[in-house]
Amino acid sequence: MKAFVQTGFGASDVLSLVDIPEPRPEPDDVVVQVAAAALNRLDVLQRKGPALLPGFTLPHIAGMDIAGTVVEVGPAAVGVELGHRVLVNPSIECGVCPACLAGDDAFCPNKQVVGANAPGGFAERVVVPHTHVHRIPDTMSFTEACTIPTIHSTAWGALVETGDLRVGEWMLVHAAGSGVSTAAIQLAQRMGARVIATAGTEPKLELALALGAEFAVSNRDPGWIDAVRAVTGGRGVDMVFDHVGPALFDASIQCLRPRGRLVFCGTTTGAMATFSLPYAYQFGLRLLGSDTYSRAEFARMLESYWVSDFTAVVDVELPLADLPDAQDRLDANDVIGKIVLHP
Ligand SMILES: [Zn+2]
Repeated sequence: MKAFVQTGFGASDVLSLVDIPEPRPEPDDVVVQVAAAALNRLDVLQRKGPALLPGFTLPHIAGMDIAGTVVEVGPAAVGVELGHRVLVNPSIECGVCPACLAGDDAFCPNKQVVGANAPGGFAERVVVPHTHVHRIPDTMSFTEACTIPTIHSTAWGALVETGDLRVGEWMLVHAAGSGVSTAAIQLAQRMGARVIATAGTEPKLELALALGAEFAVSNRDPGWIDAVRAVTGGRGVDMVFDHVGPALFDASIQCLRPRGRLVFCGTTTGAMATFSLPYAYQFGLRLLGSDTYSRAEFARMLESYWVSDFTAVVDVELPLADLPDAQDRLDANDVIGKIVLHP
């Protein structure tokens, strides 16, 4: 089958579209014919190197967000049939280690992530355990389905599982044009929160408003934190969801009301942040790391998605052969929403 294989670390020319042997399923696996696969920033970071996930090996096939049709079912797989239209939960826990047995499978030390340290969806077919495919509604496109797993599980984890966002609260999110933020804006709005979004360009601010934000402001304007405070009656927001990292971390803290929550994940702009400790403790701020999702949390996210009438924000759809150009485009931040490839 055809697959995009990463053979080294560096620029996008370390990726090549080649013929590789068909994947061999274990008895409890299924084979999914990939119809659509979305890009993530982790793909680009791991292509440049060094690898970020333990267990990453070269050659590597990236692609964590996958939707397609089941074309082979192992003899021990249950609940999945040939022809089922599915999306993939890419985070595969071992199920037998102490963390998994304690219900903390998000922290499984043996975790395999499809497209991150196991073969992914930038290929014609991918093998996954039968427990990690989820049927999608008949009316849903593969393009929409493949945008769901990473961005919506990230937003769900931050707002629901970690942030405990409440009806009527103000929530602020940065990088309105990013996939995660398009999910977070819509989820927060559905949860009855009032949403403020920041971004660096006018089209991204307009998108935030279209998706349900009440107020959108450029984080390049010198007075934007004052503007956020003014919108909230001078008090500050109840919660900030910051998946950008150091570039806006201190600003996020300054946007919060006393005892407000900063829910953070992601390191798009670096790994080390600087902020005033006295400011943070004198205002009783809560800094809450949003960890990766468990299998149960992924299932809860999907149950919510099916009934929420979300809009999938897709920047562009391209043939699989355009993967190197697509990664360069993502790397240049020249993207609104998800880039989706079709093998
Ligand atoms: Zn485990």
